[in-house]
Amino acid sequence: MPTSRKSASQLLDELEKKRRTVKPSDDHLIFREIFGWLGTSGPILADEEGLHELRDDLNALGEHVHFDFVKSNAKTALVAERNDKAYIAMTTGFSWLLMRLFGTLLSDPKFSPKIGDPEKIPAEFFEWQLKLFRDDPFIKAIALPSCKKRSDVILGLISCAHTFLFFHEYSHFLLRHLEYLESNGALSVIDESDPTDGRQALSEILQIMELEADRTAILTSLRYWRSIPESEHFDESFGISGDEVWLLAVETVMVLFEHLSKENKLVEGLTHPPALDRWAQLKWIAHFAAEESDVSNIPMNKRNLNFAQTVNDFLKRNEVSEHSADYSADVVTKLVTESLPRAPEVMNQYISEISKIQTRFWDKNGVSPPTHWERAYFERE
Ligand SMILES: [Zn+2]
Repeated sequence: MPTSRKSASQLLDELEKKRRTVKPSDDHLIFREIFGWLGTSGPILADEEGLHELRDDLNALGEHVHFDFVKSNAKTALVAERNDKAYIAMTTGFSWLLMRLFGTLLSDPKFSPKIGDPEKIPAEFFEWQLKLFRDDPFIKAIALPSCKKRSDVILGLISCAHTFLFFHEYSHFLLRHLEYLESNGALSVIDESDPTDGRQALSEILQIMELEADRTAILTSLRYWRSIPESEHFDESFGISGDEVWLLAVETVMVLFEHLSKENKLVEGLTHPPALDRWAQLKWIAHFAAEESDVSNIPMNKRNLNFAQTVNDFLKRNEVSEHSADYSADVVTKLVTESLPRAPEVMNQYISEISKIQTRFWDKNGVSPPTHWERAYFERE
């Protein structure tokens, strides 16, 4: 997170020194070879973009992984692999969009007024923040509101959202999705913003993979968040618990995906499942995960926990997006029972093929498999 206490001139000096001395490692060169088409990258890009702390935090989350940013305003994250190692990229524009969205949401005194002390935030501050968000979509800065608690929530949200996205990409690697796709003659990079890959024959499988990556990321990011001191910081005085900060972050990511897909008029149903399906699965897992994993649940039915609806209403009310969706508990139930279960014949063929690939890789590399309770979920009626 961009929270350095050094002066601007000190930072510029350090950057200049790095520019002269830091040479790209082999990983940087491989990274550039894979993602060069999307934009520039390199050992000091994250420093230049004010994202180096985030990059270092995320890199520490996994083994056999090289995470870095690509300079681009495309709103996406991507994953590829070389020599049994994951190369995960996130665009600088997407990262800043998320940070600015959280900053803007929590600057609105009307947004979840129980969080912190919204009355401390002047209305003009929010108006200014919102104007910046709407009119200057690529600005690389966030202004924190004068309420310290809401500012801390923003920092927690930034951390949770990035962690979730990181684990989503990392899950594609650990679950051997890339190896499966390559062995079936398909793409070697998974791009979260690309629904038009056009490989119709594999589109069912790709959607299953996306939901699988989400399921693993949901549980892993929640477990990770609960394990670090930052999450315990959110005591009763915040009006939002640590778990709820996590839930608000991932629900916002899902709502953002929904709005982006509508905004870009993307054809849903090719490589990525509809964002609403992904959100419904998230709510379901956060609530029921306790049954089959070691992660205890987050209640789904508490009215104040309908964050997706709150974020959706915010975007509509403030004319950030024309699109609107229904995020009620009924929708969760409907989607989870009707649209999430994929065709059993596709599932069975996929599972029998990928299980062999996964076991071989996990044994060879001594990596521990991600939580697998999601299989049981699909095999249930
Ligand atoms: Zn994905």
